[in-house]
Amino acid sequence: MSSTDKTEGTCCVVDLSALRANLRTVRRLVGPGVAVLAVVKADAYGHGDIKTARALCAEGVSRLGVATVAEGARLRKAGIDAAILVLGSLYSDDAAALVRYSLDPVVPNLDLLRHLDAFGAEHGAEIPCHLKLDTGMGRLGLLPDAIEEWLPELDGLKGVRLQGVMSHFARAEEPESQSCRGQLRAFRRMLKRIRAAGHDAPLVHMANSAATMALPEARFDMVRPGGMLYGIFSHPPLAELVPLAPVLTWKTRVLQLKTLPKHSPISYGGTFVTCRESVIATVPVGYADGYKRSLSNKAAVLIRGRRAPVVGRVTMDLTMADVTAIDGVQPGDEVVLLGTQDGETISAEEMAGWADTISYEILTSISKGVPRHYIEAKQKPDGVGGY
Ligand SMILES: *Cc1c(COP(=O)(O)O)cnc(C)c1O
Repeated sequence: MSSTDKTEGTCCVVDLSALRANLRTVRRLVGPGVAVLAVVKADAYGHGDIKTARALCAEGVSRLGVATVAEGARLRKAGIDAAILVLGSLYSDDAAALVRYSLDPVVPNLDLLRHLDAFGAEHGAEIPCHLKLDTGMGRLGLLPDAIEEWLPELDGLKGVRLQGVMSHFARAEEPESQSCRGQLRAFRRMLKRIRAAGHDAPLVHMANSAATMALPEARFDMVRPGGMLYGIFSHPPLAELVPLAPVLTWKTRVLQLKTLPKHSPISYGGTFVTCRESVIATVPVGYADGYKRSLSNKAAVLIRGRRAPVVGRVTMDLTMADVTAIDGVQPGDEVVLLGTQDGETISAEEMAGWADTISYEILTSISKGVPRHYIEAKQKPDGVGGY
């Protein structure tokens, strides 16, 4: 039985030993010739960016990926000195912060390239850029059809240095698809042109977790896993390709128990009505915590190692579960929303299925207000099976 701090309400327990084990699994999979950039954007997918980044860096990770300059600056202020690549949001007026915090930009268009080049030259800096190519995602990046326009712009750069060339898959979960094949072809063609024009791109990278697992030829010099590190999968069948351990357990405790007669409506709108005398547990978690309202009448929670169905609507801070079939439930009992309890597991993928989304959205939706606790499960004497 996992230990429960009796004074603790809702919290997330983050198992750093599982995080490290997943990192080692990624490394084993890609081999020593391929670098690993660990993606820690969105508060490390809800696991807590600073603690997660520190644990990964202590394990030898030398490159991190974030979505925004603000995320990168937060890590720098916490003393993290790994290279940090800003993958997502970058505006021209972020140039000063990029330089101040030594963040490496992904450059997806000519305007930003020109602006950073001018800024770097003016401030005596050589900003290490990763050029983003749009090979079929339709999101960020330079287009193949415009190569005659942007390729010459790589000549004579003064304030930026081309450190990487990258792209991103739209359908990496389907490695055999025309989409993946076409993106790889387009990427290789553009790389060839860039190199033929005399530019050295030391780091070529394209693979997110799904491509790292399912499409080995997309690994190039470096892979960019996020989900793999956290043991979650954007597409549940990927879980069969590589054994990864979930890192986060989300739990709370039973707040109140009551026995209701047959035909009692439960929660807003009376969307659930008891069909027998029922024991209903109220737990202090709701959509304000990130426990999605779409889980109403769909999810289950774990109590005493058994599944208790969520009944009625999930409310802002409270949710009800039917524990009629579980003997001996007491107020204060541990309730696992996500994770393992006494050998029974609710995975992020299962919860995502109930909520009609993907596990990534489940984890990144857990409110920042829910405390994260960090453990080293393997070092706990009773750690086996706990999380
Ligand atoms: C988020 C992100 C990743 C990581 O994706 P996962 O599916 O979590 O591995 C990789 N590359 C880019 C550009 C991203 O934005």
